[in-house]
Amino acid sequence: MLIARYLGVFMGLVSCSLAGILNAQNNDSLIIQRIVAEANQNSQLTTLAHELLDVIGPRLVGSPKMQQANNWAVAKYKGWGIDSRNEKWGEWRGWDRGISHIDLVYPRVKSLEGMQLAWSPSTNGKAVTAETIIVPDLADSVAFDKWLPAVKGKFVLISMNQPTGRPDYNWTEFATKESFDKMKQQRAAQTEAWRKRIAKTGYTARTLPLALEKAGALGIVMSNWSQGFGVNKIFSAYTKKVPTIDISLEDYGLVYRLTENSQKPKMSIRAESKEMGMVPTFNTIAEIKGTEKPDEYVMLSAHFDSWDGASGATDNGTGTFTMMEAMRILKKLYPNPKRTILVGHWGSEEQGLNGSRAFVEDHPEIVKGLQALFNQDNGTGRVSSISGQGFLNSYSYIGKWLSKVPDSVRSHITTSFPGSPGAGGSDFASFVAAGAPAFSLSSLSWSYGNYTWHTNRDTYDKIVFDDLRNNVILTAVLAYLASEDPTTTSRERSILPVNPRTGEPGQWPEVRKATRKGGVD
Ligand SMILES: [Zn+2]
Repeated sequence: MLIARYLGVFMGLVSCSLAGILNAQNNDSLIIQRIVAEANQNSQLTTLAHELLDVIGPRLVGSPKMQQANNWAVAKYKGWGIDSRNEKWGEWRGWDRGISHIDLVYPRVKSLEGMQLAWSPSTNGKAVTAETIIVPDLADSVAFDKWLPAVKGKFVLISMNQPTGRPDYNWTEFATKESFDKMKQQRAAQTEAWRKRIAKTGYTARTLPLALEKAGALGIVMSNWSQGFGVNKIFSAYTKKVPTIDISLEDYGLVYRLTENSQKPKMSIRAESKEMGMVPTFNTIAEIKGTEKPDEYVMLSAHFDSWDGASGATDNGTGTFTMMEAMRILKKLYPNPKRTILVGHWGSEEQGLNGSRAFVEDHPEIVKGLQALFNQDNGTGRVSSISGQGFLNSYSYIGKWLSKVPDSVRSHITTSFPGSPGAGGSDFASFVAAGAPAFSLSSLSWSYGNYTWHTNRDTYDKIVFDDLRNNVILTAVLAYLASEDPTTTSRERSILPVNPRTGEPGQWPEVRKATRKGGVD
């Protein structure tokens, strides 16, 4: 307040045109200071994280939780005075995760850490108890088909038994070099042998569970280790009638060794998921209308759906909260933007950017008027790199905007211009493919790949709120500057370098169609 009054007096003393320029600059720095203060002193991030991750939980496309999350986001925006809506983009196989309860019951009792894979069939309201059997190493598919009836009435173990549950960084720290090298060699040989064992069945990772189910197996047991302590990745099941479950490396190893050593272990599995039929799926969109150029758009973007092994905290709860909090702050401090500020919380990114691709198809006017889009989707870390995504003149605007971002935020960021359009790892790619200037705010990993990405450990406790506050400031400031910029951004594409493998000139990605109906074969 004091600064504003002082500037007002100062402005009265300088000439008119110069005053205009100074006014804009001072106005920028004032608003940016206020954004920083609001983000740091009145942060809503922990509330958002608690409500979405703890109360609602994971957001698998087609699940009732996803719908609940869509409704929650609309209500949050309405509470902040921001127009918001759920836009239907397609339909998906509805499935609701229930209780997974998995126990070893013989030769000793131990509750096992594990769960159904997404869209796995249930055990129809009861616990199923059975002996276990391991996919054997047989000569060929003929021998395998002859063996297949042996799975009848059993749970079948289809994953390799990992030789160590310690991640490699732990071996690097404590093992002798000889011992670590020996382990790695043995593990590589074992992995190759297991790959061959599965290949010789004549089935693939996708078709083997179905063949086992057809032969009378009561369930498929696997372990998709994510190469960190106590962490597995949880994707979707291929079985149609019997459950597919993932159990932790530690428990899988136990059951595997008991089976291998003819101890005839028995497991009991209770899996209580529900099928919901086909259900509509949505993107949540919110909007602060532009006053001078309402048909030009600055867009914030983060996918809203998740896998459901945990609560999707860093993939992509953190991107979601960053964008929501930036919108809240912009509405409070910059309620009448020049350009329209939009946010897209996309559905079904995990199955192929479906929500954002559908939005690009459904809203050509927004794609056409897009000044800039900022997407965040690689974990909780502070933003550490921004690429021009191949847009020839991206430096001139991104560089200009970044120069006004507070040094405490900007100093962590490296840039590459014009950069390349990239392979399309997240929703910005749907817009880049359509020729619109869309950018990824790429974060430090905080062990994202092994520990949280699509794992059973992607939970609230992994969030680093200081880094998120940093990202909120960056996003809100970039959105403000992109909205205020007197010039419209250039979309001119750079000529991409020749692909060294093919000798052909690099190609810009093509627009790909959204899958509007999914989860069914
Ligand atoms: Zn993601």
